Amino acid sequence: MNNKNKITDKELNIPVEKPAALDALLERLTGVDRSTMIRLGGCVFCGAIVEADDFEDDLSRKEYTISGMCQKCQDHAFGIEEE
Ligand SMILES: [Zn+2]
Repeated sequence: MNNKNKITDKELNIPVEKPAALDALLERLTGVDRSTMIRLGGCVFCGAIVEADDFEDDLSRKEYTISGMCQKCQDHAFGIEEE
């Protein structure tokens, strides 16, 4: 199903700016640079290549531009059980 308002692949690869200290902390935790990973379209946790269609909704897409986590890792991080 195509949602006209959905965040596109292009927008998905624009990382939300975060304080440098926070980015540095995340980089220490994950071993990868969040902004670089998002620009490359990868997940900072599992390394999967993500596309706009991989996400359930715009909220999840937006979360990706913030945290760099794919849908699967977001579900895991936020404790959503798979059905
Ligand atoms: Zn992932």
